[in-house]
Amino acid sequence: MMGTYTDEEAKRYLKRLEEKYGSRFKRAMKAVEEGRVFRIKREYSKVDIWLVYGSKGKPYLVIPDKFCTCRDFYLNVLVRRKVDLCYHILAQKIALRIGKYKEIAIDPLEDYKFFGKIISEIMKRK
Ligand SMILES: [Zn+2]
Repeated sequence: MMGTYTDEEAKRYLKRLEEKYGSRFKRAMKAVEEGRVFRIKREYSKVDIWLVYGSKGKPYLVIPDKFCTCRDFYLNVLVRRKVDLCYHILAQKIALRIGKYKEIAIDPLEDYKFFGKIISEIMKRK
């Protein structure tokens, strides 16, 4: 899987993340490989927001290095302080580093609708 990246520096970067995050790294890499990582293009805003879809299609909003809407982030990062990030944030970092993500452009006047839809997806109990 990692052999597809010829950039030696990127390989070393991924290796370090793998050693540090283990199973979270594997899930993150899978999300990147499967094209589940999206950057939301909002040129009118300085807040960089990403969308990472879980393996079952549930969306998670990610603010790089800072926040994710998933349960793992809430429990293990915020409450228990066991780790410093969840696999969605990790997927975002990897995707950005190796340039493997898609962009979603949204109309500035319609972004409340876009986020409203995403948030209702996040709130759904499955
Ligand atoms: Zn997360």
